[in-house]
Formats: sequence, structure tokens, C-alpha cells
Amino acid sequence: MMTERLKKAINEQMNAELWSANLYLSMSFYLKKEGYDGFAHWMFKQYEEEVQHATQMAHYLIKREATPKIDKIDVVPQSWGTVTEAFEDTYKHERHVSQLIDLLVKIAAEEKDNATQDFLWGFVREQVEEEATVLAIVEKLRKAGEAGILVMDAQLHTR
Ligand code: MG
Repeated sequence: MMTERLKKAINEQMNAELWSANLYLSMSFYLKKEGYDGFAHWMFKQYEEEVQHATQMAHYLIKREATPKIDKIDVVPQSWGTVTEAFEDTYKHERHVSQLIDLLVKIAAEEKDNATQDFLWGFVREQVEEEATVLAIVEKLRKAGEAGILVMDAQLHTR
């Protein structure tokens, strides 16, 4: 059995993952509207990943005899100035998520729940990959002119 404090913390993170999902879905729509089909596709995959994170957390709660509760999800931004700004926002958000996951690991340690710490390490490792992948895209976008951005748009279709 997990402690109430830990159940609550994981449930909050599950809802935070759903907010992230909505953020990336909103970005995907923005990018699609701007005519960047490849970036929109990449961002849609990002949305699907976040839904998967929330689902993994919900299933983990169920396995540990807790009940996942989907809360009211706050509104997300709807537009960005440029494709570069959207990806800069993604990078900023992923860094924030990494901090949230680190905090969650700390709570699991304080509650002496080894299984939950082990479960969370997967997310810790994934955040390192997420941040690196997004930062690489941001750095390329910053160097690229409009023509370069269109080349990247065509490449990101394959994610
Ligand atoms: Mg996530």
C-alpha cells in the first residue's frame, strides 16, 4: 500500500501530464494552422507521449490499490509568435516537468516506497532524453532561416 501523501502526489503528476498533453496538442494545432505539417506531426506525437505518461501513472496507481482521479485541467496557451518560440516553450516546459519528477522521487524516498522510486526512475531517464531532443531542435531552429525551417519541417514528418 502506498501512503496517502504519495498517492496524492502521483495523482497530481498524472494530471500535470494531461496538462502537458493539452499544451502539445494546442501547439500541434497552431503549427498545422501555420502550414508546418512536419512540426505539427512531431508535436502530435509529443501529445500522444504525454497521454501515455498519464496512463502509465494511472495504471501504476491501480496496481498499488489506489484510484486515479482526473481533475479539472487548466487552459493551455493557444498561439505562439513563431515555430521557434513554440519549441523554446516546449524546452522550458520539459525542464519544469523534470523538476516535478525529481520532486516526486524525493517524496517516494521520504515515504520509504522503493517500488515507486523504481517506477519513477524510468521517467527521470526519459526526461533527460526529452530535454536533449527538444534542445537540439531549438538550436537548429535558431540557426535556420525560413528555408532551413522548411527543410526541418519536411524532416520531422518521420518521427
Ligand atoms: Mg511527460
